Amino acid sequence: MKVVVNLRFYGGIKEIGGNKILLEDCGTKIFLDFGMSFGKRGKYFEEFLTPRSANGIGDFLTMGLIPDVKGIYREDLLIHFGKKPEETDIQGVLLSHAHADHANYISFLHKNIPVYCGQTCKYILEAIDEQSKRDIENEVLNFRERPIHRSNYRIPPIKRKFNTFRTGDKIKIDSLEIEPIHIDHSVPGAYGFIIHTSKGPIIYTGDLRMHGSHSEMTDDFIKVSEEVKPIAMITEGTRIDVKSSNESEANVYNKSSKEIIENKNLTIVDFNFKDVDRFRTVYKISKDLEKKLVISFKHACFLEKYHKDKKINSPDSKDENILLLKPKRLTGTYIDTDYTDQYIKKRLDYPNIITSEEITKKPNEYMVVLNFWYFNMLVDLKPYNGKYIHSLSEPFNEEMEISYKRMMNWINFFDLNFVQSHCSGHIFGGDLKKLIETVKPKLLFPIHTEKPGVFRKLSMKTKMVSEGKKYAI
Ligand SMILES: [Zn+2]
Repeated sequence: MKVVVNLRFYGGIKEIGGNKILLEDCGTKIFLDFGMSFGKRGKYFEEFLTPRSANGIGDFLTMGLIPDVKGIYREDLLIHFGKKPEETDIQGVLLSHAHADHANYISFLHKNIPVYCGQTCKYILEAIDEQSKRDIENEVLNFRERPIHRSNYRIPPIKRKFNTFRTGDKIKIDSLEIEPIHIDHSVPGAYGFIIHTSKGPIIYTGDLRMHGSHSEMTDDFIKVSEEVKPIAMITEGTRIDVKSSNESEANVYNKSSKEIIENKNLTIVDFNFKDVDRFRTVYKISKDLEKKLVISFKHACFLEKYHKDKKINSPDSKDENILLLKPKRLTGTYIDTDYTDQYIKKRLDYPNIITSEEITKKPNEYMVVLNFWYFNMLVDLKPYNGKYIHSLSEPFNEEMEISYKRMMNWINFFDLNFVQSHCSGHIFGGDLKKLIETVKPKLLFPIHTEKPGVFRKLSMKTKMVSEGKKYAI
């Protein structure tokens, strides 16, 4: 029998994220990630025009947000859409990290498909789950069978099967042996994979970088990848066209702290709380400048998971330098009965809760972590003439531009001083070219990139992939 390894790519080909890669070898079938593609979704949907969960899987399939592949989807969703339920022949999903464009559409997958991910990645998925409202697009850990009838509200959700690993572990899925190896990215618990197939090793990079706080982890991945002499490598290429700069976590610290020292009023910081390195940077600034760091109840869910993880050296949400900002709900008077969300209710007895009104009394004693979606709280925080540290990437698509403009209107309204201070989670073009030349795969598959053309200039044998087409190795 002729042995062939087949790869099929869905999403993440000429766009950033949405990776769903089907690998087939000797009858074993696994997915490498199963993420949401913001590009595909944003083409037809937006904030108030969303795919309907009341149509099962229908809106997602019809509009091409998920591929039409047999035997991979939840039976309840297929039936709800008037299709026949299907048995699955997929033996697992290897999840590289907890970002939505790699993880979220696991929500649609058949309940018998187990998910393999890092232990820390699972903790982050749990934190996301704790503080998010249930939605058909974020049912990664567990799901409720559709359609949901009002009378069935008490039926508990169905839990997915998760197998977690740490670096050094080896995973066996039928005929495949997989080595997950830690890499540095803007979320902890991120992995690249070496997949030993019947034809030889295939490398999948996931998302990674070499200029972050833990470049040694990416170095480990590159070293092993080179040693196994891979027959193919599937690589991310988000910033293949970006030249190296002095961007680093240390520079985020230096620039931000210098700006905050000069500020006599309130400091607002915005960053992604899934980025534990950034949290550490901001936390260190607050301690060094003797200010209290004010976070939200949502952030507390993440912090408590980080604190629980022995591999991450992170303070608890009740740390003496941390305060939780109480949001206004219902009556707007902060009484206990105003709060119905479980993630807030269970933390209302914490000793370190503060309100916006208390912060306005001594604004320069605090640094408030506030994401754009909660900017209406600026009305209470009154941060006039303060500083706003934007520790996120700059907008890279039309939708983000619109939000960015709106954000700037708020910044200008309160006469906030705007400071951009960020370090990307994705590898620079030059570093990626070096990585590829070191690992020397026989064949290269670039994905997760808006600039695939840049890869054509490499000396490596490179395959530009198309959606859904089969590539035999
Ligand atoms: Zn990522």
